[in-house]
Amino acid sequence: MGMNKPAAESSATATVTTQPVLTVDKVSYQYQISSGDWLHRKQLSLQALQQVSFNLHRGETLGVVGESGSGKSTLARVVLGLLTPDEGQVCWRGEILHDLDEEQLRSKRKELQLVFQDPQAALNPRMTIGEILAEPLNTFFPKMAPVQVRERVRGMLKMVGILPNQVNRYAHEFSGGQCQRIGIARALILNPRLLVCDEPVSALDVSIQAQIIHLLQDLQRKLQLSMIFIAHDLSVVRYISDRVLVMYLGQVMELADCDALYAQPLHPYTRALIQSVPIPDPDLEHAHTERGLRGEPPSPLSPPVGCPFSTRCPYAVDRCHQERPLLRPYKDRLITCHRVEELADEFTASEVRPSARS
Ligand code: SF4
Repeated sequence: MGMNKPAAESSATATVTTQPVLTVDKVSYQYQISSGDWLHRKQLSLQALQQVSFNLHRGETLGVVGESGSGKSTLARVVLGLLTPDEGQVCWRGEILHDLDEEQLRSKRKELQLVFQDPQAALNPRMTIGEILAEPLNTFFPKMAPVQVRERVRGMLKMVGILPNQVNRYAHEFSGGQCQRIGIARALILNPRLLVCDEPVSALDVSIQAQIIHLLQDLQRKLQLSMIFIAHDLSVVRYISDRVLVMYLGQVMELADCDALYAQPLHPYTRALIQSVPIPDPDLEHAHTERGLRGEPPSPLSPPVGCPFSTRCPYAVDRCHQERPLLRPYKDRLITCHRVEELADEFTASEVRPSARS
């Protein structure tokens, strides 16, 4: 994606205050899955998240990357209070979400909103876009006068770049990019403080992706939103994030300031992910992807005993296959790797693609 990050935004600390608004502390979540036919049915446990911890500040964007099955979308749902963690807690502005009763949680949800991956599928085809945007207002503010609702809807459409006179049209009359703008307007209509964007541009053309990313950045600055931006496209995450959290099989592998992570990724999985991003130069591309990700992730139904990345890691030693590494601080970041001290000496910034940002 041909985008340059504005220099003023490149520091992770440029827009943050000291107190986090969101704290995710050692969160684990397991899905129970039925398998087999009716005679031989058995219950299986799928560990979608394991001891995930991070925090988020006001006005900060945290990028979350990882392959499919890494737990990114489950994490989004836990943060939004749509799933209750089996262990650990999610604390939003001083309150633990799963300690709240239904009414309190419902009220909190005004502050926590989701932008979906597939904008066209997320908009009700039988409602006009005006009705779609008015629905949350009517639900949460039933006493709001219709004229105020109309004004707010029209104002929000304008803010996301949709002409307010299109308010009576249906979703199928808009392009994919316009539908995502409408999806963003719906997420913002209640004035949230946190926007969780779950792969918001992966269903769009590359040129449209850039427009939506610019729109999100613009809105975030204007509204001082905190944002969790989930994607598998590392170049998009790099452009928009202050910090980046790398996930694999439901666990945090590395969490670092965006610029530091891309300049010197220290976890073998992060390095492989970065080295798997295609380079538009056939000579460089071959050597580059040779060092990229190999094979498929193991099934989350039967993860490796030791390090989750041990079956694909070129640096794995016996200990990696036997003992699960824990997330721990190392220099300027958090990392989950037994061998980070040794590997950090081996890895140099020059091994990594110098600039995937442009
Ligand atoms: Fe690789 Fe071992 Fe580090 Fe896991 S703990 S990432 S297998 S070196």
